Amino acid sequence: MPGAGISSEALLDKLGRPVRDLRISVTDRCNFRCVYCMPKEVFGPGYQFLKMKSLLSYEEMERLARIFAGLGVTKLRLTGGEPLVRRHIERLIRMLAGIPDLDLALTTNGSLLTDKAQPLADAGLKRITISLDSLDDDVFKAMNDAEFPVYKVLAGIDAAAAAGLDPIKINMVVKRGLNEASILPMARYFQGTGQVVRFIEYMDVGNANGWRMDDVVTSAEIVAMIDAELPLEPVEPNYPGEVANRWRYRDGSGEIGVISSVSQPFCGTCTRARLSSEGRLYTCLFATQGHDLRGYLRTGKTDEEVAEVIRGIWRQRADRYSEIRSSHTVGGLPKLPKVEMSHIGG
Ligand code: SAM
Ligand code: SF4
Ligand code: SF4
Repeated sequence: MPGAGISSEALLDKLGRPVRDLRISVTDRCNFRCVYCMPKEVFGPGYQFLKMKSLLSYEEMERLARIFAGLGVTKLRLTGGEPLVRRHIERLIRMLAGIPDLDLALTTNGSLLTDKAQPLADAGLKRITISLDSLDDDVFKAMNDAEFPVYKVLAGIDAAAAAGLDPIKINMVVKRGLNEASILPMARYFQGTGQVVRFIEYMDVGNANGWRMDDVVTSAEIVAMIDAELPLEPVEPNYPGEVANRWRYRDGSGEIGVISSVSQPFCGTCTRARLSSEGRLYTCLFATQGHDLRGYLRTGKTDEEVAEVIRGIWRQRADRYSEIRSSHTVGGLPKLPKVEMSHIGG
């Protein structure tokens, strides 16, 4: 049983939202320096990443995953930083795959997948999301700022398919002035492959990326751009509260998704909790502070005691940052220091 022994009375936050999804950042490190996530000016050579002993061990992550499953979590996504740079990540996958009724997923930049796809699948991973922001090498390198070429990510996607990972989703963040011209080529490349590209509005996560509203290409613009060349029609969500809005090609050759976190916030159905790699619980992607769970794990608390701490935090949750974003960013109120995306994962 997941979270055996944990009382599963309905756990709702202040806005009536249950906890259904958990995202665990397995490391704050990454081999890319995407300009919208870990810009070199902030994450350059002097940047202090977390020390190994501060990170949750795989055993601690599994324990928390089981406790969260006992509280209602049915989906678990591993992310980062870049999750595949943490050593022996397949060991963690194997441990988590043993938790019953838990849909396990992983988001990666794809750079290490040619070697890792098969071991991940063998360990029990079923599906995967791979980020790729352009098929044009110059544009992609300008975005990852690590001289990483497109062909290696495409090879990683092929390796994931060959290993039987399914579905494969492709995440593309769109930033105005950088990669709008890559939208159509991406749609065309993946049309008919069964692999679904999800175009993501550039978000104001953290403080490092210098986000401005003008940099956002809205989902409506993206859909209009694709529809003009490759006609689209809307599709019903797979389930209530699905983050991506789905569109399919009218000729039946597949579908795309758009994630409109800025232009059409979906806080009302947000059931996501995030755990940073050193074990802090964040109840919103835009939180300014997390709650230390590692301390409870390392001081001999029982699972039920840790669960009770999490219940207390979740019951106090009233986050809906994206819905009130305009008053912070457009209305000119002082910006609060938010946690960086690479710290808690997307
Ligand atoms: N390194 C992995 C990767 O890039 O897939 C996993 C972590 S990354 C933080 C998770 C997702 O967040 C990626 O798809 C990335 O493109 C997206 N992301 C990062 N910064 C973003 C931003 N400012 N706005 C929107 N999406 C962002
Ligand atoms: Fe690394 Fe992913 Fe952030 Fe890019 S988006 S810097 S790959 S963590
Ligand atoms: Fe959820 Fe916070 Fe994003 Fe709203 S802003 S959808 S509460 S993570």
